[in-house]
Amino acid sequence: MTRNQDWQRRDLNVLWHPCTQMKDHESIPLVPVDRGEGPWLVDFDGRRYLDIISSWWVNIFGHANPFINERIKAQVDKLEHVILAGFSHAPVVELSERLVEITPSGLDRAFYADNGSSGVEVALKMSYHYWRNSGRPEKSEFVTVANSYHGETLGTLSVGDVGLYKDTYGPLLRATATAPSPACRQDRGDCRERAAEALDGMRRILQEQADRTAAVIVEPLVQCAAGMLMHHPDYIRGLRMLCDEFDVHLIADEIAVGFGRTGTLFACEQADITPDFMCLSKGLTAGYLPLAAVLTSDTVYQAFYDDYNSMRAFLHSHSFTGNPLACAAALATLDLFERDDVINANHKAQTIMDGHLAELAKLPHITNVRRTGMIAAMDLVDPATGEPFPSEERRGVRAYQHALEHELLLRPLGNTLYWMPPYVLDENDYRHVFEVTRDASHAAVR
Ligand SMILES: *Cc1c(COP(=O)(O)O)cnc(C)c1O
Repeated sequence: MTRNQDWQRRDLNVLWHPCTQMKDHESIPLVPVDRGEGPWLVDFDGRRYLDIISSWWVNIFGHANPFINERIKAQVDKLEHVILAGFSHAPVVELSERLVEITPSGLDRAFYADNGSSGVEVALKMSYHYWRNSGRPEKSEFVTVANSYHGETLGTLSVGDVGLYKDTYGPLLRATATAPSPACRQDRGDCRERAAEALDGMRRILQEQADRTAAVIVEPLVQCAAGMLMHHPDYIRGLRMLCDEFDVHLIADEIAVGFGRTGTLFACEQADITPDFMCLSKGLTAGYLPLAAVLTSDTVYQAFYDDYNSMRAFLHSHSFTGNPLACAAALATLDLFERDDVINANHKAQTIMDGHLAELAKLPHITNVRRTGMIAAMDLVDPATGEPFPSEERRGVRAYQHALEHELLLRPLGNTLYWMPPYVLDENDYRHVFEVTRDASHAAVR
């Protein structure tokens, strides 16, 4: 028995893995990771895998990053955790100052949770509660966009629209109006048109139900979990205008797209708008520790500020709200963005990716090649018919297995192959990613 096999056996005896049909592991081996080295993961038998999905989109500066490691080590010797109600600490104050400074102007307050879904729950509750405190308790519904993903809790599934995660739990969820998706085909140049159509659809919904709607929630520029569906910044600009016109909040869920993913530090910058709530997590701590922040305006904050009355204050908390170690990791992350001028440095990676994507686009079984900033994606189709493969055929799983055997952690979403690289890959790394993705796509359609 190899060391990998030993860990696999012990794991499968006692664990239940996330987002997994456990029986799959009878045929698809689990990968026990011993250590990380920059963008590489190394298993217990010494095999390595380039992590082109940033470990579920969180790890933006590589694994075991020495700079971030040092900062967490320094913090752990000072203060590991403290209650954030009635108490405060330096990392959370500094992080809040920095977030207020770097997010779009008008976002002046930071509230914390300890994972993305909880952050979205905070924004949903705060929005409803704002209207309630403002004498409009009937504004208690939300509007979402087709194909949206906002997390796995019952509240966030209610405002999500990915059937794979949502449908099973239908009876447990709140009904939510769903506006058409602005997702477009960059290769067909129809993005502005799709954005305009989708805005018309949103307008019709708001005309009908703005009076009872608290907020519209959106993943700006890229709907990641639905399969890296991309849209034009016009859509986000238009949403802001519609929300103002109809007096509803705009919640920007930048949990996946924040921190440079779309090419700017935050996706909303490309539409030049300020949402009423911005949810951040994932890249916030460079994938080190769970933390979420919800940024909002002084207007929202003031609607809660009053003499004590249990119905007016936002009495929401999580045990690990604003954890100092997580905040220290986030501060180190922001320092790296500044020190290495990461947003500009990433342009080079984007040019390299474009060269490889152009090659992949020539393959008869690949279509809808697209990129927004540091997210690239393409869809597998049957080369004989040009049609998508039925999802039961699980072509993406074949690509995943081929890539794993060739030192790449590629983890397709259905028929969609995508790259969400950490911001530390060099030209050789990208060539490796390209070659293995190309070969994995062949293996998937064979
Ligand atoms: C991942 C994600 C979430 C949920 O975050 P978790 O930390 O996994 O709960 C919410 N919204 C978007 C857009 C995400 O990608």
